[in-house]
Amino acid sequence: MPNQPVSGNDLARFAGAGTFMRLPSASSAEGLDVGFVGIPMDHGASWRSGTRFGPQQLRNESAMIRPYGIQTGAAPFDALQCADLGDVAINTFNLRDSIRIITEYYDDLLKYPVIPMTLGGDHTITLPILRSIAKKHGPVGLVHVDAHADVSDEMFGERETHGTVFRRAYEEGLLDPKRVWQIGLRGTGYTAEDFDEPRDWGFNHVLAQELWHKSTAPLAAEIKQKMGEGPMYISYDIDSLDPSIAPGTGTPEIGGLTTPQALELIRGLRGLNIVGADLVEVSPPYDPLGNTALTGANIMYEMLSVLPGVPYR
Ligand code: MN
Ligand code: MN
Repeated sequence: MPNQPVSGNDLARFAGAGTFMRLPSASSAEGLDVGFVGIPMDHGASWRSGTRFGPQQLRNESAMIRPYGIQTGAAPFDALQCADLGDVAINTFNLRDSIRIITEYYDDLLKYPVIPMTLGGDHTITLPILRSIAKKHGPVGLVHVDAHADVSDEMFGERETHGTVFRRAYEEGLLDPKRVWQIGLRGTGYTAEDFDEPRDWGFNHVLAQELWHKSTAPLAAEIKQKMGEGPMYISYDIDSLDPSIAPGTGTPEIGGLTTPQALELIRGLRGLNIVGADLVEVSPPYDPLGNTALTGANIMYEMLSVLPGVPYR
């Protein structure tokens, strides 16, 4: 039997080592199918800070998650060897150096056949991760759930921030643009045409308002059909959810997705060739009740549950 989360019936949920889902820690990805990695970083964020505390709080709230998905039948720990690899030792005084450190970390990690599941951290972290992912898998498809497209060219002259990630990823050839979906976009732009250019690159855009009052299951089915069998990555920005549900984030926008819409979307991606995923932009200082981190931790579990090789009961 692979690693199991420590049961709440063997050790109280508020006790223990504080790893994601109370899994064993590991210092290397050797032998792992899935490695949870924290990137405690917020110096790529442009408005509220605090995501440096995201990984720790996501781990704390994950202590309540039990191994089996009652609604879906997912049994990820019956088949996949999972562990918590701890945090990347970023340079908290230097964003560019942190980006370099993250790329080197994932380059090393991906020497093993492991699927990295990353706990952010502001959204900047996805760029260095995708650089490593693309070295291994070539350009990947992407399901990017976010209030924002994160396709600005520069912010204060900086080209690598949480608002420029997917423009850089496109320019660097890390993505297969026709297999990119950006879902949940809304709010206000720097210009009225902010989204036109990424559509010209081939990105598929689904505005939040197209999903209001609707199931996201048909969208997931369409993505699944068009994504095909090639490698793909999921980047889940918690601000895709409505701020009434997930207030603890750096750049909230009203009129967002609901929790059932998030679950339907992720559950509908089961069967795709997912090679990695991240959950970003949880900012605990703005999350006094802990619900944002709780929601984020559960979304991470749902993403784990749709990875290749997860059995269903
Ligand atoms: Mn984002
Ligand atoms: Mn966002």
